[in-house]
Order: sequence, then C-alpha cells, then structure tokens
Amino acid sequence: MELNLTQQFLTENDCYRAGRTITPKGVMVHSTGVAQPDPEVFIRRWNKPGVEKCVHAFVAEDRVIQTLPWIIRGWHAGTGKRGSANNTHISFECCEPAGHTYRGGEMVDYDVAANQGYFDRLYHNAVLLTALLCRQYALNPLQPGVVLCHAEGYDLGIASQHGDVLHWWPRHGVTMDRFRRDVAEAMLTEGSQEEDEMTQEQFNAMMDVYLAQRGERAPSDWSKPAREWAESVGLVAGDGAGNRRYQSFTTREEAVQMFYRYSQLPPQDTSAPVAEEA
Ligand SMILES: [Zn+2]
Repeated sequence: MELNLTQQFLTENDCYRAGRTITPKGVMVHSTGVAQPDPEVFIRRWNKPGVEKCVHAFVAEDRVIQTLPWIIRGWHAGTGKRGSANNTHISFECCEPAGHTYRGGEMVDYDVAANQGYFDRLYHNAVLLTALLCRQYALNPLQPGVVLCHAEGYDLGIASQHGDVLHWWPRHGVTMDRFRRDVAEAMLTEGSQEEDEMTQEQFNAMMDVYLAQRGERAPSDWSKPAREWAESVGLVAGDGAGNRRYQSFTTREEAVQMFYRYSQLPPQDTSAPVAEEA
C-alpha cells in the first residue's frame, strides 16, 4: 500500500519561524501520549506561537501529514544538551487510537486486540515514511543511532526522558529492532516507486550534465605525452570551443574520426614518441 503523504506546514509555530536547518543523520519516532487518532487536532493545536515543540510529521492510520520541511530543525527531543537529537534527527509523532488513558507514563485500559488493525495500518505508514526519509537522505536504518525512538534517544543521552514508543509498540509485539529491519526491507521493495518517477527526458538531461561535468575535468598527468603528440599532429581537435574533454567518453563516431585522421597523417608523423608510462 502506498504512502498517503500530504503537507500542512506549521507556519505559525515558533520552531518553523526560527527556520534553522539541519543535515539529517537519522529519524526519531515519537508518539503523542494521548488517545487521539486525528492528526488535524494536533496540527490545529500546534500551529501557533508559544507551543515550544514541533515535529516534521504526524503519522495516522490512513495518512501522513508533513508539518515541517525535512531539513528544518525540529523541537522534538527536549531542550539543551539533552535535546541534541534536534540537530540530527527528522522526527514524527504517531497518533494513538482512542479509548485509553495514562497513569504516569503507562497506558491504562488499552485494548490490544481491538486496536490491532489500527496499529498495523499506522505501523505500516511509519515504516514507509522512515524508508522514504532514509532513501532521501542516504541513511542506513540498520546502523546504530540512525533510526531511534524517543526512549532510545534518552538512553543514548540525546533526548529528554520520555518512554515513547516503547510504552506502546511492544504491546503489539513490535520492537524497534523489528522496525529498523522493516524499514530496511521497505527501502528495497518500495525503492522502485521513486525511480519510476524519473522520466527518460530527465535521465537524458542528467546524463548530459554528467558528461559535460566530466569533460570539464583536467586530464591526468600520465597522459601528457600522448596528448601533446595527438594535439601536435591534429588527431584530437576538440569541440567547436576547443575543449578536448579528455575525461569524458568517446562516441563511436569520434573514435572513427580519430582513426581516419590518423590514417591521413603523412608517414613521418605517424610514429608516436615512446611514452614513459601507460
Ligand atoms: Zn517523544
């Protein structure tokens, strides 16, 4: 099932307005700690000044709503040194189903069986979102410290003291190690989805850029005697602007053109000087 991902940026939240950016090094999973499955409730509540927290997305059972650009620094891991995951991790909140309450950090009257379907759908969305982010920022979810929940972040000293999502997900038999494995698997199986989105025209344009960039690279020293000889006898003429593109690739027509020019050289010019290397 595909990810239903839309955007509603929390533009009135102080975090959004601070506008600091990060280079994402990981993803941190949270849950809201309240029995409220509707992400719009949180979006309304958080899209104002003075909230003092902000995440990059809310994951619900039927969709994901992105609430901050991924590279904007979120306020999800706490403040000060304890909250240093804010500088490295993209964050999302999982919406909890209706019906339970809390006593301290513990879920009370949580009906595991009745909530299994909700959990499976939400978990699937969390896997797909994390896989998408790991692909986008070239992150390996199986490497230590990359994909974490808030409670794990606390254990590592990079997030405030919260128990999410270890107070909830294990009720459904799901560990964070299982989550990381599922994310890694989704990166492989869902990866083609993204690749399909590149058109042939886009690929061709990128290939042209790549070849042009290669052509602008300076040639290596080891080829200097050969280049000097080839240029002195007119074997390599370069393009209209005189760029010889030594680090780019040769087409078959360029190859036969060079052979042809070689065949046209006067006999005394056809012997190359002995190269010192290669
Ligand atoms: Zn949290």
